[in-house]
Amino acid sequence: MASISLHNITKVFDCRTTAVSGVTLDVRDGEFLVLVGPSGCGKTTLLRLIAGLEAPTGGEIRVAERSVEGVSPKDRNVAMVFQDGVLYPHMTVHDNLAFPLRMRGQPRTDVERRVGEVAGILGLADLLDRKPAALSGGQRQRVALGRALVREPAAFLFDEPLSSLDAGLRQALREEIRALHQKLRTTMLYVTHDQSEAMALGDRLCVLRDGQIQQIGPPAEIYDRPANRFVAGFFGTPPMNFLTGCLCSEKGALFLDWADGRVSLPAFPADSVEKAVHVGIRPHDLSLEPLPTQGGCVLSGRVSLLEPFGSRTDVHVVVTSGEKCILSAPPSTRLGVGQEVHIHVDPTKLHLFASDGTALSHWCA
Ligand code: ATP
Repeated sequence: MASISLHNITKVFDCRTTAVSGVTLDVRDGEFLVLVGPSGCGKTTLLRLIAGLEAPTGGEIRVAERSVEGVSPKDRNVAMVFQDGVLYPHMTVHDNLAFPLRMRGQPRTDVERRVGEVAGILGLADLLDRKPAALSGGQRQRVALGRALVREPAAFLFDEPLSSLDAGLRQALREEIRALHQKLRTTMLYVTHDQSEAMALGDRLCVLRDGQIQQIGPPAEIYDRPANRFVAGFFGTPPMNFLTGCLCSEKGALFLDWADGRVSLPAFPADSVEKAVHVGIRPHDLSLEPLPTQGGCVLSGRVSLLEPFGSRTDVHVVVTSGEKCILSAPPSTRLGVGQEVHIHVDPTKLHLFASDGTALSHWCA
């Protein structure tokens, strides 16, 4: 097992495309860390830098506490699993699994023992004689995983290994990868652009945008205390609502002026006097009120769209200010498009962001 540490890593392609900028990150020994962010944010580039398939423009990479500068990919003791599970089409599953060990010149008995072990772990024992063309997408990806596993690397690097599979298979293999990690406790660095996959898999997540780290932390911390508006909006289905507002303090009390007038806030942010803010609210933190309540924290508006999902109905509302928000309501909710609604807001569930998108900390008791 091994830790992976990146210190101030930058990668510029062709002197003009900065794919990764000043990334400092420690993947702890035995940890499952997920690199997550939108397409083009530099996730794959980071993995390729660690695997040795690219060289950094600046910064240092250490695997198992040793610098890997100038070390060839095969000597880094990390195994990468790619999106499309590349297999040798003319070889059987058995030979695909055995290949990395044969290349290392391992004795035949060791190769057979290890292939047998890995086939057992991944449920491939009945498929050893088949060629890749006779496997399903999920089985092929499992063999690709097995090819990484047989080598007993110090760390695994996964580059969106489930993205070419259908939803059901993706869910099943995701559970298998998580179980595999619990069993092996090998360091795993996993790349995905899928926020729900990241949440389900990671001990910690590292959120990237435009080649830069936005936040690192356990999934619950990132969901509950996003560092900025980008992170807040990236996680959650449907995504967080954002409305504009203005913070003001009067006689030691703090208020938020927004779409539907004035809301009293529960605690005082350190540096908040007359400040324009973005107000974030998650759709499941909003609920319908039968009537506007006096003095309560309420938004009013009209239903513009209803999306029934079976387990919930998403109600799209245009509020008094003309801004839009989504509320996730119980599936039994009976509403019509154009209907006037009043929405209860719990002030302790509001997220406030400065105009540059940074989360205003210390405001919530
Ligand atoms: P995706 O989720 O779409 O795979 P990603 O987050 O993995 O995206 P990268 O593939 O790392 O992003 O790409 C980051 C940026 O670097 C992009 O702007 C991409 O076009 C650029 N890039 C990646 N590889 C190269 C390359 N070999 N030459 C030039 N530019 C590159």
